[in-house]
Amino acid sequence: MDIAQARERINELRDAINYHNRLYYVYDNPVISDEEYDKLMRELENLEKRFPELVTPDSPTQRVGGEPLSSFRQVTHRIPMLSLSDAFDEEELKDFHRRVTEAVGDKVEYVVELKIDGLAVSLTYENGLLTTAATRGDGVVGEDVTQNIKTIKSVPLRLDFPEDKKPSIIEVRGEVYIPKEGFKKLNEEREDLELPLFANPRNAAAGSLRQLDPKVTAARPLSTFMYALGYVEGVEFSTHYEVLEFYKACGLRVNPHIALLKNFDEVIDYCTSWREKRGSLPYEIDGIVIKVNSLEQQRALGATAKSPRWAIAYKFPAERKTTVIENIIVRVGRTGVLTPTAELRPVRLAGTTVSRATLHNEDYIKEKDIRIKDTVVVQKAGDIIPEVVEVVKERRTGEEIVFKMPHRCPECGAEVIRMPGEAAYRCTGVSCPAQITRSIIHFASRDAMDIRGLGPAVVSLLLSEGLIKDAADIYKLTREDLVPLERMGEKSAANLLAAIENSKSRPLNRLIYALGIPFIGSKAASILADAFGSMENLEKASYEQLVSIPEIGDKMAESIVTFFKQDQTKNLLARLKAAGVSMEAKKREKGPLPLEGLTFVLTGTLEGYTRSQATEIIEKLGGKVTGSVSKKTDYVVAGKDPGSKYEKAVKLGVKIIDEEQFKKMTLQQTQSS
Ligand code: NAD
Repeated sequence: MDIAQARERINELRDAINYHNRLYYVYDNPVISDEEYDKLMRELENLEKRFPELVTPDSPTQRVGGEPLSSFRQVTHRIPMLSLSDAFDEEELKDFHRRVTEAVGDKVEYVVELKIDGLAVSLTYENGLLTTAATRGDGVVGEDVTQNIKTIKSVPLRLDFPEDKKPSIIEVRGEVYIPKEGFKKLNEEREDLELPLFANPRNAAAGSLRQLDPKVTAARPLSTFMYALGYVEGVEFSTHYEVLEFYKACGLRVNPHIALLKNFDEVIDYCTSWREKRGSLPYEIDGIVIKVNSLEQQRALGATAKSPRWAIAYKFPAERKTTVIENIIVRVGRTGVLTPTAELRPVRLAGTTVSRATLHNEDYIKEKDIRIKDTVVVQKAGDIIPEVVEVVKERRTGEEIVFKMPHRCPECGAEVIRMPGEAAYRCTGVSCPAQITRSIIHFASRDAMDIRGLGPAVVSLLLSEGLIKDAADIYKLTREDLVPLERMGEKSAANLLAAIENSKSRPLNRLIYALGIPFIGSKAASILADAFGSMENLEKASYEQLVSIPEIGDKMAESIVTFFKQDQTKNLLARLKAAGVSMEAKKREKGPLPLEGLTFVLTGTLEGYTRSQATEIIEKLGGKVTGSVSKKTDYVVAGKDPGSKYEKAVKLGVKIIDEEQFKKMTLQQTQSS
């Protein structure tokens, strides 16, 4: 490779790494595995070593982490928070030891620590009191997350100094992380709410800590281990191990597996043994950190722009093994998505026995041509979820079976549909045990039956206590059921029961929407309520009747017919009706409604209404809401910061009204209608 080629490749690599850094550090949402990222970084480092004249100060090899988010106040670290250089095998570990002994002689002790998969923070205590907490950011400037850090129980707000050591200022550094159990739960909750899942515990911890609302952080199961010293005044330490002992004495949480080793062979043994044992820990680790113990030797060794020369991170290899797919089963997630899963002949991988691997979706299986009885290579991605990397096609015997997605849900037997634009298949069963949590949360949500107090946490609790099995059971709940529940009490129970009672008289369109029929949003639900007038009529509607309504397309019509055909749906509706839930549209007054024939467009933020509330009011009064402005639009309701629709309305001469005028118009009409 000549210098011109090297320059070109270096630029490509830098662009790619900067892009992935942004996704990983700034948005906590990586799209490639750490192993793939490390490979890019290694290639760049090697090229820069061969062509040192091409190294620039802004190369990702010279910089730490990602830039801090501007939504937080920024904190400049008194001493930079560096990254660590990596070692991927025993040879590289020995090279590190050789470099250290060449610089400071062979009397070296090492402290070995687990490399916790979280994010680094720096806590400043002034006269023992926690005053500032900051993320690492780009190593020089971090984000001020003090309020959020204060919600973590293992962080002392005041340090308990021993008599002989009372620093006036001390910067305590360490890791904020989410234990495995909490990570799993958090992703389950996010799945219920149809939010994107966190790729690994590090991103989950970072995403939880970097929240503008500390209440969100408080609800996340974050914990800490402290392992490093930043700026300090008023106390002297001579070794790193002494610092850690001091931390423990002050009430800070220090990892119990840290060891002080005098011999480098022991360091290697420690690394190998944790590679095997790591599966048994309640939190994820992605390697081992090895640090020179003497602070004087640390100072003599110094640091590069990116990492100290006195420490190294031994990164566990992403383990891969070959095994056989015994079967492919289909699991139904909590959002009703069907995920094909490979049942594997059990193999040991990264410290745990793996007997299942996700196959994501049908397209993934087709793309990799994965078949039942195939020999495959599996690995743990982000060290958590095992996945099939490739098929060893040379091992095929002709006995392999091509997998087909089932047409019925394996949990409840209801029909399965594939959403357009989605790789996933979904179950349509309303009482499908696998997706019941999400469907009840949706049923009670604000734009549906609007049952205040019946949010995700309460729904999960009621389900786990066996008090409800589907949405109709909500109407059977009693005071005696609710009061003994955790964090409920008399008052909340009474409020919840009143909200449930109120919901019985919600308009028909809301009930239709609440049923969670695939493709039927709140707007389509209103159209259906208007067109059919009662649940009974809608249940009986044929495909032809449905598609004859201009706003109802064939996918929607198909989905409605499939939905009402299911026995589960019939059973649910019968029980809702028996509970007294209104199934009829309110009878209209004779004569046209006040906004009949008028078309509205909403733009900008309204202070007093959500978009769907404003839409509901207009529709109740006979008006129509459309998404874009045309000559046919009668009114544009412009809230705060209106968008391009506003400009278009001006251009076309459409009448624009503000929120106050809208309120007046609809209030008058509501009173007179
Ligand atoms: P690092 O994770 O390799 O090591 C430094 C970090 O280790 C510290 O900042 C600290 O947070 C942590 N740590 C945990 N336990 C520790 C202990 N006992 N002592 C000291 N530090 C400890 O370096 P980095 O700069 O934070 O991240 C680089 C790595 O992040 C890459 O190797 C890659 O794996 C990953 N990454 C992935 C992507 C992606 O797109 N997948 C993008 C960027 C970075």
